[in-house]
Amino acid sequence: MKIICIGRNYIDHAKELNNPVPASPVFFCKPDTALLQKNQPFFYPDFSKNIHYETEIVVKICRVGKNIEEKFAHRYYEEIGMGIDFTARDLQDAAKAKGLPWEIAKAFDSSAPIGLFVDKNTLADVNAIPFHMELNGKTVQQGNSADMIFSIDKIIAYVSQFFTLKIGDLIFTGTPAGVGPVAVGDNIKAYLNNQLMLDFDIK
Ligand code: ZN
Repeated sequence: MKIICIGRNYIDHAKELNNPVPASPVFFCKPDTALLQKNQPFFYPDFSKNIHYETEIVVKICRVGKNIEEKFAHRYYEEIGMGIDFTARDLQDAAKAKGLPWEIAKAFDSSAPIGLFVDKNTLADVNAIPFHMELNGKTVQQGNSADMIFSIDKIIAYVSQFFTLKIGDLIFTGTPAGVGPVAVGDNIKAYLNNQLMLDFDIK
């Protein structure tokens, strides 16, 4: 399986990192070794001094597809969850400054914690899902899929022009404003529709 991550999908977050608002989705990949599951702890890596959380809605692909039309994209996912796109912001800033790829900052081991998934049919509207994240019990990020620049269906249509989507692939749909650093000893809880989906510690 592969993990596809959308960057700059909320205007307020693009602005906080001084990035232009994109005309088409920006995306990158993480390998399967980036997955961190079952609320296992995240061990702060030695290679970075500035690991940031990015709280994101995650879509699980349920059918194989390529060149998927936007109007049919809803058939390609049934489950939605929450994940953290951990980013070594210091390494990313260095890569950006040199015009280099971001994998070193985005695709490292355990950089993609995911939690529970829910059937999308239990949600009133996938284009209006509220979510938030608590760092040590305090809400630091909140968003709503209504505020995405590119909707889930638009993302699936766009990405599938380049990559065949396969069963089990995950799409991280981008983060709203409020990204920030984590430290050893922190706890992260991510909620979709006020349902706790992900709960783990930084060690
Ligand atoms: Zn992200």
